[in-house]
Amino acid sequence: YRAKERGTGVEVFSEALRSRLLRRTDVESGLARAVEAGEIVTHYQPVFEAETLRLSSVEALVRWRRGNVLLLPGEWIAIAEASGQIVGIGEQVLRTACCDQRELGVPVAVNVSARQLAVPSFLAGVERALAECRPGALVLEITESAVIDDVDHARGVLSQVRSMGVRVAMDDFGTGYSSLSALSRLPIDILKIDQAFVRRLHEEEGRAVVSTIVGLGGALGHDVVAEGVETPEQLDVLRELGCGYVQGFLTGRPVALEQLTGRSAHEPQGGTEPGAGSDVSS
Ligand code: C2E
Ligand code: MG
Ligand code: MG
Ligand code: MG
Repeated sequence: YRAKERGTGVEVFSEALRSRLLRRTDVESGLARAVEAGEIVTHYQPVFEAETLRLSSVEALVRWRRGNVLLLPGEWIAIAEASGQIVGIGEQVLRTACCDQRELGVPVAVNVSARQLAVPSFLAGVERALAECRPGALVLEITESAVIDDVDHARGVLSQVRSMGVRVAMDDFGTGYSSLSALSRLPIDILKIDQAFVRRLHEEEGRAVVSTIVGLGGALGHDVVAEGVETPEQLDVLRELGCGYVQGFLTGRPVALEQLTGRSAHEPQGGTEPGAGSDVSS
């Protein structure tokens, strides 16, 4: 585990402790208390205009601070989705992100899973959260898999969300199985190119895929964001291809609000991300 190797100090733990912390039943019972215990933490990763590197927005990314350990979503979110606990957690992330938005000063994007979209109270939750944030400053990110089960329902919910002034981003674009025709009929404002494609930008085929997505986004009138940009070479190619926005470790890792706004430069309140410390933008 990278944090341990790099010795950031915040998340030193043994593999045994880690696997004990992550047993499914243990995750479920832990999560049941996590929201009220204040263990659900929201970090923010900046998104920049590719050409100018001007800060454009931030993406809210949930973390679970369990004891001394900061658990990334990859380790527990599938369990929270299966158990339905993602609904309560997602509501909290949405509220937190909207509350933090004014201080952030730029629009904030929040990830929404299929489970959340399916809950009837979802729209009411969005409306409540919106009261805290500047008009037009909320983006909801959905994935193809979140809409594929019931495209008509998703289209209805997303249309209503948009009528509240919220923008919609299609996350991990290109990794799902939806047809282009279904996707093109969804009310979407932003395409986020999955990092799997960005990682292949040094290959001709990878470049062709990204170029095609950029072209598609342009044709449909969507902004295009490349995710997982890690190297200056990738940034160069993305600029050449006309990709509007970039997000990745090259330009900024996810960090706690205080670190992003520079309110407290000393102690990371929200915890240090695994592998943090190599952020070229700081
Ligand atoms: P995502 O929405 O596609 O978010 C991007 C993920 O890529 C984040 O992982 C981010 O930390 C990571 N990332 C950003 N730049 C780079 C880079 O340059 N290189 C690499 N290797 N990775 C990079 P994270 O935070 O672990 O989140 C993973 C996924 O968990 C997210 O993917 C999203 O699908 C889900 N997720 C995160 N927060 C929430 C939430 O509040 N609610 C829901 N439902 N899902 C969430
Ligand atoms: Mg996302
Ligand atoms: Mg993504
Ligand atoms: Mg992803």
